[in-house]
Amino acid sequence: MCNITYDDIGPARVINLYSSKDRLRAVVVIDNVALGPAIGGVRVSPRVSTSEVWRLARTMTLKNSIAGLPHGGAKAGIIADPLSSNKERAFRVFARMIRDLQDYIPGPDMGSNETAMAWIHDETGRAVGLPEEIGGLPLDKLGATGYGLAACAEVSAPMAGVDLKGARLVIQGYGNVGRAAARFLCARGAVLVAASDSRGCVYDPSGIDFDELARVKEEHGSVTAYGKGSRIAAETIFAVPCDIIIPAATPDVINEGNAAEITARLILQGANIPATAKAEQMLYNKGILVVPDFIANAGGVIMAAMEYAGKSAQEAFANIDERIRSNTRQILEHSAARNILPRDAAITLAMERVHRAMAYRDH
Ligand code: NAD
Repeated sequence: MCNITYDDIGPARVINLYSSKDRLRAVVVIDNVALGPAIGGVRVSPRVSTSEVWRLARTMTLKNSIAGLPHGGAKAGIIADPLSSNKERAFRVFARMIRDLQDYIPGPDMGSNETAMAWIHDETGRAVGLPEEIGGLPLDKLGATGYGLAACAEVSAPMAGVDLKGARLVIQGYGNVGRAAARFLCARGAVLVAASDSRGCVYDPSGIDFDELARVKEEHGSVTAYGKGSRIAAETIFAVPCDIIIPAATPDVINEGNAAEITARLILQGANIPATAKAEQMLYNKGILVVPDFIANAGGVIMAAMEYAGKSAQEAFANIDERIRSNTRQILEHSAARNILPRDAAITLAMERVHRAMAYRDH
């Protein structure tokens, strides 16, 4: 079932693609291009739906707007198993199908990476998050989003009454974003106490070695192979006693079924749309500070836009630090002053810029 709401900013285009020769299905949603050509990731999953791609495309419109980037928002989903053996063929076929969508610039997302972006770029001349050899700023290797999450934590933790030094950190989804967030936050004194992936969860209240965990995951394919601590069911991770939670995997994992169990005082949304609207309201009512996805995880797209503009990694990191700190402070102050959810404060600010840009257009 495809549940899309059309409003005063989009989505401009919802495109279903199918290659009968390769039996490959994909969907692209270009939400709004008033600010410029739309940047958004390519998600690869057998379960990715048109509604999910549409919600993610809207998140990109808001994220790119509030980050001050000259780009609109879009997203793509390739309906396939990310572990399938003929990955290159799938990305090349997808790239040929989107060749004419000139106002969509693909970037990496779950199931795609720098190499995939190089294949898409080879076919279309457009993609960000490219390997260094062809002029890219490899945002996952550099940990752009994790770096931004740490900047966000430095501003939001004191506002949530959390001292980063010694703060117990939980990461749901120990992938590119989760690993980098752990690295940058542990460097600021946080202690990783639980981390999960699609196969399970490791929990150790005395602290997990984040580097060793990354090595184990790389070598054995899952955090559950970590030598110390205990293994717990992946879905119980949100009930772990902690101070900060970073969901960094799939949508809607924090929902009405588990929001009441959360004891953390701060949630930084590393993943896109990781909580349902009802869950965010429940957390707000409990006094838990939630920094929404399009503020907290903007590091990746800021670096992607800087790459597109021909800037260096150093300039990109400075930009991420400055924009995420100032946006976090601004939306949390706005939220506190008006007694509204941080997400609602952020949407208001992001939409203002989109509307101003749309006023210059006639379509
Ligand atoms: P990734 O594929 O590198 O990592 C995702 C991790 O989540 C994997 O380890 C996977 O095993 C795990 N996972 C999947 N389902 C899970 C489940 N049910 N429970 C626990 N773990 C589960 O992806 P990524 O690039 O790290 O992206 C993660 C999220 O962050 C996505 O929502 C993505 O849209 C968002 N995001 C990524 C970036 C970026 O720079 N890569 C930027 C902004 C937002």
